[in-house]
Amino acid sequence: MTTVAAYAAPAAKAPLERTTIERRVPGEHDVVIDIAFAGICHSDIHQVREGWGKAIFPMVPGHEIAGVVSRTGPGVTRFAAGDRVGVGCMVDSCRTCVNCRAGLEQYCSQGPVWTYNAVGKDGQPTYGGYSEQVVVDENYVVRVPDALPLDAAAPLLCAGITTYSPLRHWKAGPGKSVAVVGLGGLGHMAVQIAHALGAEVTVLSQSLRKKDDGLRLGADHYRATGDPATFTDHVGSLDIILNTVSAPLDFGAYFSLLRTDGSMVNLGLPEESVGIELQSLIGLRRSMSSSGIGGIAETQEMLDFCARHGVAAQIELIRADEINEAYERVLASDVRYRFVIDIATL
Ligand code: NAP
Ligand code: ZN
Ligand code: ZN
Repeated sequence: MTTVAAYAAPAAKAPLERTTIERRVPGEHDVVIDIAFAGICHSDIHQVREGWGKAIFPMVPGHEIAGVVSRTGPGVTRFAAGDRVGVGCMVDSCRTCVNCRAGLEQYCSQGPVWTYNAVGKDGQPTYGGYSEQVVVDENYVVRVPDALPLDAAAPLLCAGITTYSPLRHWKAGPGKSVAVVGLGGLGHMAVQIAHALGAEVTVLSQSLRKKDDGLRLGADHYRATGDPATFTDHVGSLDIILNTVSAPLDFGAYFSLLRTDGSMVNLGLPEESVGIELQSLIGLRRSMSSSGIGGIAETQEMLDFCARHGVAAQIELIRADEINEAYERVLASDVRYRFVIDIATL
């Protein structure tokens, strides 16, 4: 075992504080990663506050991990010391179920082993990226292309893949009209990726405060959801709506913006159940759907796509002792557009 520094929440809703954790001795197929940067995802906050149900404490959040390989187990073939790598939301899965075999490890029928707030195959709790080091099986590690700086690449490991996967699945591209609800961590990646895929992109935000940024990131239109015209003047105009909001919305109003066969894809995961009014769905054979992160091969594909298209996260780099303050700012939608922890400050 190796003792490493980490930031952990000792209990639900408690502030995070510096501590130490143990990392396992690398096994046959393990990669030891010296973490350089870890993004703060809104999911970290949901889990630290037990908003999604009972959680495991102490909790070291962080599933947007970028770093450098320092050591490898004897059976590792894909990585070597010095490689720039990333780890996202999962660190293992059953590898044999129909979904794992299809590259959809995130939908593993046994449930994937999440990067933190989970129990690993060794029976030990998993600890995430707000720490100096992580030990991960090579099959759940991806390569960060040289063109991407590690700090701006870290958020791609969750926010990037979570938006890339549904945009590909629902075929965003030339001739398709995509709206992104919420310009936060996921939202700002969705805008850039949808634009790079060639789609016409609209941001639907609570206000016009971030309009200049949205247009700079590649949006063609930017509309405030508080403006009634947003919902009356654009009925039936969109093929895909990616909803990144972490709170319930008036879904019926958004459905009405979809064209025939359009889909509203829910990525945000509110802590409460949401009421849905079905009338405007049935009207034009619209659908309400959802998507969770993406598979390992698809995560690599997304990183390579981002490197090719010059897409990365817009980040605010923070020190480890600023994590609790950053959480408050995320909750207030005051982030441009992802906080990333400089792990050297741990
Ligand atoms: P975030 O950075 O906080 O962004 C969410 C954005 O939604 C905010 O910036 C804000 O944008 C808008 N918003 C916030 N509260 C709102 C409200 N009450 N009403 C309307 N709009 C609101 O969060 P994130 O990290 O992108 O994560 C977003 C959600 O996705 C979270 O629930 C997270 O757990 C979930 N998530 C899901 C997956 C998945 O696999 N499906 C993966 C990662 C995260 P504006 O100011 O522009 O309105
Ligand atoms: Zn996340
Ligand atoms: Zn499986």
